[in-house]
Amino acid sequence: MATKLLLTFAICRLIVTVGLTLDPTELLLLGVDAQLSVDPTDVKAASLDFGLLTGAQPPLAVMHPASSQDVAQLVKAAYGSNFGFTVSARGHGHSINGQAQTANGVVVQMSGSIGGSGVASGRKPPHPRVWPQERFVDVWGGELWIDVLRSTLQHGLAPKSWTDYLYLSVGGTLSNAGISGQAFNHGPQISNVHELDVVTGKGELLTCSEEQNSEMFHAVLGGLGQFGIITRARISLEPAPQRVRWIRVLYSNFSTFTRDQEYLISLHEQPASQKFDYVEGFVIVDEGLINNWRSSFFSPHNPVKISSLEPNGGVLYCLEIAKNYHESTASTIDQEVESLLKKLNFIPASVFTTDMPYVDFLDRVHKAELKLRSKGLWEVPHPWLNLFVPKSKIADFDKGVFKGILGNKTSGPILIYPMNKNKWDHRSSAVTPDEDVFYLVALLRSALDNGEETHSLEYLTNQNRQILRFCDEAGITVKQYLPHYKTHQEWVDHFGNKWDRFYRLKMEFDPRHILASGQQIFTPTNMASWQ
Ligand code: FAD
Repeated sequence: MATKLLLTFAICRLIVTVGLTLDPTELLLLGVDAQLSVDPTDVKAASLDFGLLTGAQPPLAVMHPASSQDVAQLVKAAYGSNFGFTVSARGHGHSINGQAQTANGVVVQMSGSIGGSGVASGRKPPHPRVWPQERFVDVWGGELWIDVLRSTLQHGLAPKSWTDYLYLSVGGTLSNAGISGQAFNHGPQISNVHELDVVTGKGELLTCSEEQNSEMFHAVLGGLGQFGIITRARISLEPAPQRVRWIRVLYSNFSTFTRDQEYLISLHEQPASQKFDYVEGFVIVDEGLINNWRSSFFSPHNPVKISSLEPNGGVLYCLEIAKNYHESTASTIDQEVESLLKKLNFIPASVFTTDMPYVDFLDRVHKAELKLRSKGLWEVPHPWLNLFVPKSKIADFDKGVFKGILGNKTSGPILIYPMNKNKWDHRSSAVTPDEDVFYLVALLRSALDNGEETHSLEYLTNQNRQILRFCDEAGITVKQYLPHYKTHQEWVDHFGNKWDRFYRLKMEFDPRHILASGQQIFTPTNMASWQ
């Protein structure tokens, strides 16, 4: 009864907001009433994201689906309705710029962290199903990667390609790319998917893969949620390593640093014993200590002073590498690491090594999250900027940005690591620079309201604009990762020669622009014209 009342309230809001007459039976006929909620807690949660930049964008209602069919029924109703409403899948809401929000529609809460009426009713999405012989796992689109890992480890298996942080949903990262230090070797997460179930913008449920509905398959991967809602993904697995040797070494010379990074990723075709499994890096421009929020890697009791390594007060670069191993091969790990390190040209005596279980390594950022949460520093605005920079221009970027625009304050970690373009399937919707090797530069800043100008949201937002303007003027053809644009022309430029296909497939699979309107790529069709 209460649910019905809530639903009726939701329908009334739809009518009021859209300003059109609606036959309320239309939504009642969806048959998904147990999952639709207008509970203020649900609506509030679905109106915010990690960025905290956009201001609350409350949806009209939130759906907690328990199956692909629930999602399909909702989207079909939106597509076929006279009055029209948008539908946005929301994974874990870790976007920066409202990409998973929709103000005039329904948010489909794919990840189960928010207890809603669907969860309360006892109906839940399917658990991961591992196929040990075939080495893949079928997972619900809203599954968090941490839970995918926990399930596959029960079979001694694990996905191959990761993000640095595991509390992100499968559908959310596959809509972008999903990258971390394994991408040079295995490609991004979108290169490690066998099959998808997708609900299109017409409410059709399609299974797609390389062989079946292949255009849809490639379009959805990196497709920013524009073509369909991923309800199931079949993800490739490998035997799970048990432990990880995790190493950081420092450089004061940028070209030596990038030469070593590029050398390490060039080893991707070598046997496992002759390459690292993970290659990342970060920039240290802050004065003082090189510990940062991403890890307590450098001992808090014995912090490393930048001045001891770079007396001129310049920028330092930290190469971060890791090698996975099994306890049965522990006897050779020292030797393998040693012979790889010998080929690198870091500052002598700047080697910091740690060793830990594989799961702890993969889940490393969560520890930092818990620390920041305890200090009230997690739920703050995050004006993040993620760029793919072509290899040929990374030195110009260093000069202009790390040694120029940033000054000596960064307000958060700055990651930098290269990837091999041939590990990215050019048929996917993901966009990367037009060179064989390109870098991720991730400026992961937190804005604080502590009176310091350089920590303020306004300062950091302006700095992001300045960086983009500098790249433009210096002819550094960057591509935004987790892109955010406001004008049609910017999106056309972003997709470049992929735009025509992107547009054509949008018209085919989501002709009314119902899905993922928070990305601001397509404007939902004028709702009145739906009549
Ligand atoms: P949401 O923010 O919920 O959604 C993102 C977009 O995907 C929206 O447009 C939404 O509509 C769409 N979407 C969500 N679910 C589905 C679905 N099932 N089907 C279709 N579309 C869907 N990224 C990396 O690549 N590597 C990293 O190491 C990394 N680390 C991060 C660390 C932190 C702390 C944070 C906050 C983000 C990080 N990211 C990283 C970025 C992250 O991958 C993206 O923001 C991703 O979209 C977040 O997933 P989500 O489940 O929260 O997605």
